[in-house]
Amino acid sequence: EECMAHVVVLGAGLGGTIMAYELRKGLGKEHKVSVVSNGDRYSFVPSNPWVAVGWRDRESIEVDLAPVFARHDIALHPQGAKRLKPAERRIELNDGSSVAYDYLVIATGPELAFDEIDGLGPDHNSQSICHIDHALKTKKAFDALVDNPGPVVIGAVQGASCFGPAYEFAFILEKALRKAKVRDRVPMTFVTSEPYIGHLGLDGVGDTKGLLESELRQHHIKWICNAKVDRVEPGKMFVSEIADDGSLKKAHELPQVFSMMLPAFRGVAAVFGIEGLTNARGFIVVDEHQRSTSYPDIFAIGVCVAIAPLGKTPVPTGVPKTGFMIESMVTAAARNIGRLVRGAEPDAQATWNAVCLADLGDSGVAFVAQPQIPPRNVNWSSSGKWVHTAKVGFERYFLHKVRTGKAEPFYERLALQVMGVDKLKEIKIDDGAA
Ligand code: FAD
Repeated sequence: EECMAHVVVLGAGLGGTIMAYELRKGLGKEHKVSVVSNGDRYSFVPSNPWVAVGWRDRESIEVDLAPVFARHDIALHPQGAKRLKPAERRIELNDGSSVAYDYLVIATGPELAFDEIDGLGPDHNSQSICHIDHALKTKKAFDALVDNPGPVVIGAVQGASCFGPAYEFAFILEKALRKAKVRDRVPMTFVTSEPYIGHLGLDGVGDTKGLLESELRQHHIKWICNAKVDRVEPGKMFVSEIADDGSLKKAHELPQVFSMMLPAFRGVAAVFGIEGLTNARGFIVVDEHQRSTSYPDIFAIGVCVAIAPLGKTPVPTGVPKTGFMIESMVTAAARNIGRLVRGAEPDAQATWNAVCLADLGDSGVAFVAQPQIPPRNVNWSSSGKWVHTAKVGFERYFLHKVRTGKAEPFYERLALQVMGVDKLKEIKIDDGAA
């Protein structure tokens, strides 16, 4: 019983930080909690679209993890992981040292697959908002755009799963260009692999199709769906619009002086290709308890988890993994590891539903999809100024939580219960949405 366990979390992003806090809260003092991260700072990814137009700076969305972790008795290894060695129950770090574990939670998020498309990404001919460093670089490109206005392309490429931020950034950029009084000289096109606007990798939620089409029209943003980006050149994006039968409907050569495309995601190099642990894209294959189907001492949470796509779309799309789903994975994994440490079997399941707040500058679109695959019990979407306010609340609350080491989920506070969503499956769900 008094056997001490060492639980290691790999990755200190949105899922990994709160994972460490929940583990620390749930496990007795005799057990050790450690985090292996890339550097000693936490960065709030959902604020990156604001960083990219100068509405936030690095300082306002980052947290120094070392003092918080020290206060909460969580060991920090900021060297980063080189390779996981699951058979030896250890992680090889970038400086050659090693961290051994009894239980491991993989929370490494995505690797950004820019290299799958010629000329894509911040090292080449398009911008990105997926990382704070990219968002700060995009801010420089935004300033140059304001000085020299011209056509803009925003969207998400083939294989992308994270469509919300692409819409967010289109509307946020639109607002920032209006404020800078150059919007009239910037034709904007939204280019997406989704089969229709508002599909979001979820076959739409409530009336996201109607809501987002209407918003795009009202903001004079044209769109191309079923789009496959062939290559990006300085000043031009080459896009194939694909028909329902998979044939080429139209080849577009889109002029652009500024573009930002969400890339496809894949698993990070430290785990990619580990036999039995990952799927072909490098995502971690887990059971209903967030536990690896091959390594019973390994769990995974967040974007690094493998989720099957909804169904075939003319251009491949993936299913998004958003904050609420990630929080629910964290709660389930923390409880299950706690049970294993006490000699019991895992029993908690996350609700893999989608709850999303998409900020559109001064308004926003919110949706709740439960389950993810339609037909659904909860299929709700709405828009209004309150979404922008709620998103700012999400940012403030989450950063406060990371700064203080609190293990308390945001979405419960936001009263999403009202919409009929609960975090763990064992809790009974009310039918119907608010
Ligand atoms: P991440 O937050 O990306 O964290 C992974 C961490 O692992 C990173 O810190 C990374 O450095 C680290 N890591 C990776 N490899 C290693 C290694 N080898 N060694 C050590 N550390 C490693 N969701 C919402 O619910 N609401 C939103 O508004 C929202 N906005 C988004 C906006 C953008 C631009 C993007 C890209 C996503 C957004 N999401 C949003 C989706 C999702 O919530 C976020 O992507 C979230 O950050 C994912 O959490 P995660 O913990 O899985 O991965």
